[in-house]
Amino acid sequence: MKDRGRLIVISGPSGAGKSTVVSKAIEGRSDICFSTSVTTRKPRPGEVDGREYFFVEPDRFKEMVENGELLEHAEYVANSYGTPRAYVEEQLEAGLNVLLDIEVQGARQIHRQMPEAVKIFIIPPSMAELRRRLEGRGTDTERAIEARLIRARQEYAEADFYDYILVNDDADRAAAELSAIITAERCRAANRMHWLKQEA
Ligand code: ADP
Ligand code: 5GP
Repeated sequence: MKDRGRLIVISGPSGAGKSTVVSKAIEGRSDICFSTSVTTRKPRPGEVDGREYFFVEPDRFKEMVENGELLEHAEYVANSYGTPRAYVEEQLEAGLNVLLDIEVQGARQIHRQMPEAVKIFIIPPSMAELRRRLEGRGTDTERAIEARLIRARQEYAEADFYDYILVNDDADRAAAELSAIITAERCRAANRMHWLKQEA
């Protein structure tokens, strides 16, 4: 008998350290897989199609939305992002925990469709530190950084439906907390009731 996989939604402002914390948390854990999103954003230097994202043209993105191929989708700072439905459903079915790194509007769509999804919001210790991280990452123009900081404040105001908040001051500690949440959520009674219904 196996446990059901859980859908784990991670959000937080761009630059909060989501990718950093998620990759540390899932290192060496074979029970977690990461859902690669589709985006119309152009790849940043070093990003590989099919690894960080599936990079698509706006027409293809529109087609995916119309065909119902996306579990959720949203606009973020002038680009579209979405979660391919088939991969998530297959992995959950196979008993894996599936991690989504998505912004707040998309997370809210998931919350409505699948209220049992675990919602985690990751924040930096301060807005000043967020700006430093975005500048330090060196992948966004000053204008894009300003837009991302404005969006971060909007997201804080809308983040009232998350189950957990992680403060990413120390990435190793935040990753350990994330890993602990995923383990605890998997052990929830609601997720394991089927073990009690085994035949003697
Ligand atoms: P996100 O995925 O949320 O956009 P990243 O993981 O790309 O954020 O992190 C943004 C920048 O901040 C990166 O340069 C990363 O190395 C750095 N960073 C992440 N976590 C921390 C931390 N706890 N302390 C200092 N810098 C961090
Ligand atoms: P970035 O351009 O920095 O990679 O991502 C910008 C924002 O888009 C981040 O907040 C990230 O969580 C979000 N994002 C990435 N993929 C998806 C997705 O599939 N759906 C939604 N709704 N947001 C996404």
